[in-house]
Amino acid sequence: MSITQQEANFSRRFDADIVQNPVFTGVERAILEQRLPPGTRLAETDLAEFYGVSRTIVRTGLQALAHSQLVTLRPNRGASVANPSPREAREVFEARELLEPRSAREAALRANRADVRALRLHAQEEHAAMANNESGRALRLSGRFHVMIAQIANQRTIAEIIENLVSRSSLIIALYWTRSSTRCDEGCHNALIDALERNDAGEAEELMRSHLVELHSALRFEVGPSSNLTLKDMLS
Ligand SMILES: [Zn+2]
Repeated sequence: MSITQQEANFSRRFDADIVQNPVFTGVERAILEQRLPPGTRLAETDLAEFYGVSRTIVRTGLQALAHSQLVTLRPNRGASVANPSPREAREVFEARELLEPRSAREAALRANRADVRALRLHAQEEHAAMANNESGRALRLSGRFHVMIAQIANQRTIAEIIENLVSRSSLIIALYWTRSSTRCDEGCHNALIDALERNDAGEAEELMRSHLVELHSALRFEVGPSSNLTLKDMLS
């Protein structure tokens, strides 16, 4: 089994465990669907009551959300929805534009048939989520597509950094996105898979660069109106 496959299996297991946690899935979805604004306090007692689960399950869910960079945990102050500043958002995308085109080049040189098949299956799932208007799920899956490419490149340290940047991007895109069209659009990801299949390193690098520049250019760093809704209203 290749390293890429082992990692894919590991992350599937991790995903399978964590998707059983209703606090993780419910809050993640509410954040990515823009129902929970940045900075919203996430009180453990409210979450336990809303989801009908123990405080232990609430804490496990919140820790996984913090690992995904969607939630900030502070000692004695509890959890709140992460609140990336425009500057941080810009830096995250600048870092991705530096790292990911090179990573796509390397991935194109290494991609085998199993890798290409895994990417195509993943892209289908992503497009199905978009077609069903499951915007939160579609956003998470498109981020995962970028992580898979970094894993195929097999540069572990860079892949870890990209994974972190992609997690932070999901929230940034949810907060600052301006276009009504799809985020990582179908065409871009399919063209990248085609380039990987042909082992065309130059094309993969260029496609990834233009894809990220396009994503970045669709972000508008203005803060939306604050809401007077309660946590329960926002989660419902
Ligand atoms: Zn993309």
